[in-house]
Amino acid sequence: MNVRFNIPFKHEDALKNMAASIELGKTSGNHGFSKACHRFFKESIQSKPLLTTSCTDALEMAAILADIQIGDEVIMPSYTFVSTANPFLLRGATLRFVDSKADHPNMDEALLAQLINERTKAIVVVHYGGVSCQMDTIMALAAKHDLLVIEDAAQCINAKYNNQPLGSIGQAGAYSFHESKNISCGEGGLLLVNHKEWEKRAEILWEKGTDRAAFWRGEVDKYGWVDVGSSFLMSDILAAYLLSQLKHLQQIQQRRMDAWNYYDAKLQTLATKHDVLLPIIPSYAKHNAHIFYLVVKDKDQRVSLLNYLQKAGIESYFHYQSLHNSQYFEDKHEGGKLPNAGRFADCLLRLPLHYYLTQAQQDFVINEIFSFYKNMLGE
Ligand SMILES: *Cc1c(COP(=O)(O)O)cnc(C)c1O
Repeated sequence: MNVRFNIPFKHEDALKNMAASIELGKTSGNHGFSKACHRFFKESIQSKPLLTTSCTDALEMAAILADIQIGDEVIMPSYTFVSTANPFLLRGATLRFVDSKADHPNMDEALLAQLINERTKAIVVVHYGGVSCQMDTIMALAAKHDLLVIEDAAQCINAKYNNQPLGSIGQAGAYSFHESKNISCGEGGLLLVNHKEWEKRAEILWEKGTDRAAFWRGEVDKYGWVDVGSSFLMSDILAAYLLSQLKHLQQIQQRRMDAWNYYDAKLQTLATKHDVLLPIIPSYAKHNAHIFYLVVKDKDQRVSLLNYLQKAGIESYFHYQSLHNSQYFEDKHEGGKLPNAGRFADCLLRLPLHYYLTQAQQDFVINEIFSFYKNMLGE
């Protein structure tokens, strides 16, 4: 049996919408389909949404809005994707990496205070697998030290911290619609501007440093170059694709949650019998079934299990390398050891999880995992 790791959701409306955009001849950014996507987000999130070409670009906008200057320090987890770091590095920031929690890849909020000094400007939080960080603690610490909080909420559509949508809590947040995420349009992203004073400037950065968006609304009688900016807008063709997915968000989420809960229920004995860590969801987090992972005993066991599953036709993957240990950053890292990030980098593996995954396929995956441990113990 072949079990794919991810298959993006498909709906016939995707092609219909994209054809309509092309027929209309309105294929650049901020036309009808983009506006429809923006309306969709405004209905559930009290923030200003701006569709971007990627989450990476949305984070670049956030770094400009945060006015990051050379030498400013920015704190972020080490166990994350490079796109959390690059936008801040490109503005000249010095990165300070914080370790993960012992039982979860998210940043350990208890370790933040010791990294803060007079040069610290912002904390970038990453909600791993759509599971929220401890935002009350982080926001209170940021307020105390006058720091900005930017949420890399790339994986977080539909996920919440208590009743607040992730990405809407810090001054700005960013979603991704990359092929690998719950909702996708190939490549795409969304900036959520939560800080009212940034709204106007965000729109200008988005439109290459011009006040074009205000012009289209009739707020200014001509438009021109008023600030720095870049070409951050998503094409309306991709917004058309994205809209076809957003319309089915609840259906997609229901299916993913069911599959996630099924793994969780069936794999519990691994935790008790074989010392495997399964995802832990804190009471304040409403996750979105983005990732189901196992954290096994050590790196060797992960290699063996990945090979075992691969031989059975099951696609399973590890995830991030710790950024502080990367080829690019290793000699720039001045912080201490980050053992928990190292453990997730070495021992975490992700199981297939997508809309089209059947229960028969899940049973197969689950059985193969149990048979791996049985063989290993020579039972
Ligand atoms: C996917 C992802 C990104 C990058 O998103 P793009 O839309 O591909 O730019 C950034 N951060 C995290 C945590 C991600 O999972």
